[in-house]
Amino acid sequence: MTEFNTRAIHDGQTPDPTTGAVIPPLYLTSTFKQDGIGGLREGYEYSRSGNPTRTALQDTLASLEGGTHAFAFASGLAAEDTLLRATLVPGEKILVGNDAYGGTYRLINRVHGEWGITNLTVDFTDLDAVRAAVATHAPRVLWVETPSNPLLRIVDIAAVAEIAQASGAFLVVDNTFATPSLQQPLTLGADVVVHSLTKYLGGHSDVVGGAVIVRDANLAEHIGFLQNAVGAVAAPFDSWLVSRGLKTLGVRIDRHSDNAEAIVAAIEQHPAVEAVLYPGLPSHPGHEIAARQMRRFGGMVSVLLRGGEAAARQLVETTTLFTLAESLGGVESLIEYPAAMTHASVAGTALEVPANLVRISVGIEDARDLVADLTVALDALPA
Ligand SMILES: *Cc1c(COP(=O)(O)O)cnc(C)c1O
Repeated sequence: MTEFNTRAIHDGQTPDPTTGAVIPPLYLTSTFKQDGIGGLREGYEYSRSGNPTRTALQDTLASLEGGTHAFAFASGLAAEDTLLRATLVPGEKILVGNDAYGGTYRLINRVHGEWGITNLTVDFTDLDAVRAAVATHAPRVLWVETPSNPLLRIVDIAAVAEIAQASGAFLVVDNTFATPSLQQPLTLGADVVVHSLTKYLGGHSDVVGGAVIVRDANLAEHIGFLQNAVGAVAAPFDSWLVSRGLKTLGVRIDRHSDNAEAIVAAIEQHPAVEAVLYPGLPSHPGHEIAARQMRRFGGMVSVLLRGGEAAARQLVETTTLFTLAESLGGVESLIEYPAAMTHASVAGTALEVPANLVRISVGIEDARDLVADLTVALDALPA
């Protein structure tokens, strides 16, 4: 097997056999001509069921995550919804990390909860607590994010996979923050990887999408059935954009990581900063696990401010290169206030986030400019 960056550029992306076009064409078609009833070419019939541009993306994703099958959806949450339907039936339980992405928790709690799925939350960094929850509740699914959003906690994927396997549960890892360039959960024992393609995999803040990747044929068949039966598929143009993004994933992630390291070093000792949450810091409680299971530490940095909520709100409104916006993983740097933005939907639950927390998605601009912008904004906070 070739290496990661080679696969990101070539797997699923072979030149068009008809014209030689180096980039596989964008198939903007809803339906496919049949050579006699049922005479399908390459199995294509109707674009909800299958479209060559989506297939190309799915093949690249399966290769990059070390899976056998990938499925692309209209959003990360659409991917998660289909995955939850494929792995749980009413009456069963799901164990979710206590700092999962707010939208994921809302989907599990408010949508699937209504249909008879019970959710329990646990701190997945506490393996004894995970073992106890599994023994007591026998959940069908364990749902892990690492690094988590927005607290950047690190979960030991291999250790949780062992617990899941011993109890016959599925382990799902949301790999949106790390991306397969940094960590490949299926190779560490997870059963399923989910992604918001909207973030690093698309990488340019111009597309919303999601994916599920597996390595078990039965599970793949079930998800494939639901992808078509429910129909929240990735559109051809969206698939094409993500395929383009994937080609530069490796170089982007290295640059995101370089810039994040530069920023962390520059602001960690700033008097306005109470703590920097970044798995690359030796003081981070998950540093050793992260160093073991991740190639580098990525581009997401969270900061707790001494000045509380007021300081956090002021910081996100005064940077100029860091744009105040939700989302993450694009080439441009973003900054946000989770308590009132991305994580507003989990206020009052076990997943509520600190009021003095700011989350930064470090882009691939020049580090010196990013450091200067943040430093000016931090200096302006009241002492
Ligand atoms: C954004 C995000 C999602 C949801 O994906 P959408 O594409 O917005 O539907 C899920 N998990 C994580 C970690 C995310 O950051």
